[in-house]
Amino acid sequence: MINYISQQQSSCLLESEDPLLSSLINKESKRQKNALSMVASASVALPSVIACENTTLINVTTEGYPNSRYHGGCRFVDQIEELAVERAKSAFSAKYANVQPHSGSSSNEIVIFGLLNPGDRILGMDICSGGHLTHGAPVSAIAKYFEVYSYGVDPKGYIDYEQIEDIALHCKPKLIICGASSYPRKIDFAKFRKIADKINAFLLADISHIAGLVASGLHMSPIDHAHITTTSTYKQLYGPRGGLILCGKDYDICVEKNVTLSQKLQKAVFPFYQGTPILNAIAGKARALDFVNSKEFALLMKNVILHSNTLANNLIELGYNVITQGTDNHMVLVNLLDRGITGYCAEKSLEECNIIVNRNRIAGDNKSSMIASGLRFGTNSLAFRGLGQPELKQCTEIINEILTHTTVISDTQFRLDENIKNKAVNQVKALCDQFPLYHV
Ligand SMILES: *Cc1c(COP(=O)(O)O)cnc(C)c1O
Repeated sequence: MINYISQQQSSCLLESEDPLLSSLINKESKRQKNALSMVASASVALPSVIACENTTLINVTTEGYPNSRYHGGCRFVDQIEELAVERAKSAFSAKYANVQPHSGSSSNEIVIFGLLNPGDRILGMDICSGGHLTHGAPVSAIAKYFEVYSYGVDPKGYIDYEQIEDIALHCKPKLIICGASSYPRKIDFAKFRKIADKINAFLLADISHIAGLVASGLHMSPIDHAHITTTSTYKQLYGPRGGLILCGKDYDICVEKNVTLSQKLQKAVFPFYQGTPILNAIAGKARALDFVNSKEFALLMKNVILHSNTLANNLIELGYNVITQGTDNHMVLVNLLDRGITGYCAEKSLEECNIIVNRNRIAGDNKSSMIASGLRFGTNSLAFRGLGQPELKQCTEIINEILTHTTVISDTQFRLDENIKNKAVNQVKALCDQFPLYHV
């Protein structure tokens, strides 16, 4: 029985029904195949995750949870969702897991809108210092409905727990958010919990970037320190677009009369914030969370860290200002101020040679987020493709060659030497051919 339409069948159908769209999708696949992605917030979906997404699960409309749905026909999707929940609990040693959030952002919004009242105070990491939009950035919905306070990093780029405690004692937030989009060092979730307990605040740990390292024991797990842990599933879990909400030992604390934390979160996802779950994505989460429990994944995570360390050390040797002089996770942040090139120009110049990174504001940055004074690198995708230490060293040299031959004209205009560009494009192509994105 064919329970999913094969990649080949579906692409043939698409090509005959809609050649324009099909050709655009093909171009994108080819771009990915021939580019080295070093975007820290990205990774590669496991091929079997893509297989889950490409199934008739897409046709299922329902609301509610396994065994208490509002529509018929849920016999099998109930089992799929239960499997995803069990695997999420097992991957993170959690007591509670909700696999329905449509994204990492909505996971955070569900927790925040579900547990707090409008106008309540939140303390989160400042977006310039590495926090996420949903941690209370001025442009986010969170800042519109809550009173947001923020903490940054010290002049060396590290989280300063004493500073956070001072701010927390002063503003007495109802929720503290820890976890970051752009922070290369370990986060001490136990210290955050001590601060939260002093003011009786909830602690939310958002591990969107480091979920794989946490699951494989290479980073302290927040699961029993934070009241709630959230993550996106497409970054370091190599899964589908989506999010998870998890609880550890505090899952059954009472948050209202006769309501436990996990009961409150369950209702905060549905019916409070979301409608129908995306069942093909939930199957993809189940698949990715099983991969997370494998030996192969443990090895992948070790390589992710080895690679980021190689990258950081090589960049330092080449004279780059690597923020915090190194990394504990998959991420390397570079301050470009001393090189006279903006993040924007550096990103675009590297992209001309098919090396994909993203510009990033650095603490105290006086450039806007469109321009930025830094670059953020990550090693999830290259480790997945199987590049080794020598290739990472080679990548760093190619990056340096491109950046040193980029002549800056303005914040957004530059010229890249044509010979250097052609040479880099060929080197990148050779690496991409040697380490294909997918072995299919
Ligand atoms: C990427 C990220 C998110 C958002 O995830 P989306 O699924 O893209 O909405 C949330 N928090 C942090 C810290 C992130 O890095």
